[in-house]
Amino acid sequence: MLVNLLDFDLEHLSDYCESLGEKRFRATQLFRWIHQRGAQNFDQMTDLAKSFRVQLESHCTISPLKVLSRQNSKDGTIKWLFDVGAGDAIETVFIPEEDRGTLCISSQAGCAVGCVFCSTGHQGFSRNLSTGEILAQLWFAEHTLRAELDRPERIISNIVMMGMGEPLQNYSALAPALKTMLSDHAYGISRRRLTVSTSGVVPMIERLGRDAPVALAVSLHAPNDALRDRLVPLNKKYPLAELRSACVEYLSVAPRDFITLEYCMLEGVNDSLDHARELVQWLRPNPSERRVGLPAKINLIPFNPFPASGLVCSSNETVKAFSQALLSAGIVTTVRKTRGDDIDAACGQLAGEVLDRTNVQTRMTKQKVIPLHTHKLVESLL
Ligand code: SAH
Ligand code: SF4
Repeated sequence: MLVNLLDFDLEHLSDYCESLGEKRFRATQLFRWIHQRGAQNFDQMTDLAKSFRVQLESHCTISPLKVLSRQNSKDGTIKWLFDVGAGDAIETVFIPEEDRGTLCISSQAGCAVGCVFCSTGHQGFSRNLSTGEILAQLWFAEHTLRAELDRPERIISNIVMMGMGEPLQNYSALAPALKTMLSDHAYGISRRRLTVSTSGVVPMIERLGRDAPVALAVSLHAPNDALRDRLVPLNKKYPLAELRSACVEYLSVAPRDFITLEYCMLEGVNDSLDHARELVQWLRPNPSERRVGLPAKINLIPFNPFPASGLVCSSNETVKAFSQALLSAGIVTTVRKTRGDDIDAACGQLAGEVLDRTNVQTRMTKQKVIPLHTHKLVESLL
């Protein structure tokens, strides 16, 4: 079987080159060809020895994902649906803004956490993506857009791991992917501009801090354990007190001096002023932290409804009142702006409606195509 070079960070690629009898530094050249120049053929890599290229050709591949569909929004947002085999599909979203380009990347096909307000969670878990499949989303988007816009310079400046899946439940594939995103020989994304969003896999927050301390967003959604147990079932394993300690610890290595907390506004569920007060209390210092408490920025997300959830988004007035309660307690709070609304129609809908947009062959083989929720993104977070 051919080795997919998108699966390697620079260190692993160096090991691999060494195993082929090449000098380790050759890996840097190869890595640049792949990630900085978007090369897919070894023939193009003219500064590598012909013998090395022949060897690469016979053992390796640079394996792209198959595009099932692409939607362009009027505001410039682009959404790709990729086939990852066996009836699974994942989604990647590009959000252009004046001063940056953000890519929202998936880490798993489906998700095992099962949050009640999340369409991915309702569909269940299919499988982890490999490092190569995580990176192929960035590799493809960056080089496709560069070619389309005829711009030699970097298009994607910010990355959010907020697509399908729980990134910290696929840590071994995630870590090399993050290292490649950060590498100056690849995408050179700054740690502040690379955000991992998690529902709270506590032990992996600590590991992330050691291996690749990027910006952290925690999907909180509730200010007490009883409610969070219902909304984010992982809370039963890692309750709020543990999550809070992990966040405080993470701040000592984080590229920013706050943690972003995401809070999806669900009518009559988690959106009362009592909940807001409880949240303020949760962020305040506890007796062992004399001063700071948990420095956090709260990002209120309007719930994107889908039929199976049985949930409704809080009204604008409720969101405003909730946000005001936090702001007047001195907590930085933003309400997530949405992008790509006109191509949002497919999101949160049932698989069959996605199938209609795919070709006949795909339609026959796709039984489990899962549309995503993360079409609506995040200006304030970035
Ligand atoms: N699994 C990770 C990252 C992917 S989800 C996590 O949960 O953080 C990315 C964000 O989208 C999370 O904050 C999640 O809570 C939010 N989200 C999921 N379903 C949503 C929906 N239907 N409406 C609005 N936000 C949603
Ligand atoms: Fe998984 Fe995140 Fe959706 Fe929860 S919100 S089910 S953790 S993708």
